[in-house]
Amino acid sequence: MFRPGVVPPERSDGEKLWMLVQRDRVLFREADAALAGPDEAARLPRTGAAHFLGHLDDREVWTAGVPDDADAGAGWRFWDLFAVYGVTDEETWMAAGRAVQIIEWERTNRFCGRCGIPNELSPGERSMRCPQCRLLRFPQLSPAIIVLIHRGDDVLLARSHRFPEGLYSALAGFVEPGETVESALKREVEEEVGLQVTNLEYRGSQPWPFPNSLMLGFFAEYAGGDIVLEDEEIAAAEWFPVDDLPNVPGGISIANRLITSWVARHTGAE
Ligand SMILES: [Zn+2]
Repeated sequence: MFRPGVVPPERSDGEKLWMLVQRDRVLFREADAALAGPDEAARLPRTGAAHFLGHLDDREVWTAGVPDDADAGAGWRFWDLFAVYGVTDEETWMAAGRAVQIIEWERTNRFCGRCGIPNELSPGERSMRCPQCRLLRFPQLSPAIIVLIHRGDDVLLARSHRFPEGLYSALAGFVEPGETVESALKREVEEEVGLQVTNLEYRGSQPWPFPNSLMLGFFAEYAGGDIVLEDEEIAAAEWFPVDDLPNVPGGISIANRLITSWVARHTGAE
């Protein structure tokens, strides 16, 4: 089990695991996707500080950035998070997503955005502080909604221009400053497919470290309107009967969980 933390234990003498991050990839052993240990941490150069992430069972987990041109070493590999999903266990995968975001935060906040001088890590909390103007920078999260719209026996699924051919998913979009999550959801649905929805039902969340989203999943009931696509973003949107769905995203995503749980509920399996 992964228990997150910021301040390392006072007596830090247990076994340590290392999430060594190169760009958006994490070092794992080639053969079995095991995490790195102190040997790899000592061998590889770093781009910044070592950050305590928490405990995975009784082992401390640390992360540090590695330069883009550093070689993983024989038997090791910097794995893309998508590629390593299902190869490691879910807890490790989630912790790796956290590591990637912490290192990205460190790399993109090296200087104060207000006065331009180098930031310092704040002791005792996950923030960077400007020693001159005291501006604090916490790791950034971008909340986004993802919504499965239902109407009787049908659900609305859409494809973005970026999707592989034939793949459909639930609608998603970022929450904007000043918006509630609910109003963001209604706005996104209206903008992307021209529909109105009601009876929003929160179904859980998922950190999505590509690069720093927090996906908030909902069911919503169709309330009115005809499908009108926002052409720049949406390539197609259609109503599909739950027993005849197109290709949808895999188990890694909250989109998959939303669709699967709706089908289960609708067919009486939930
Ligand atoms: Zn400053």
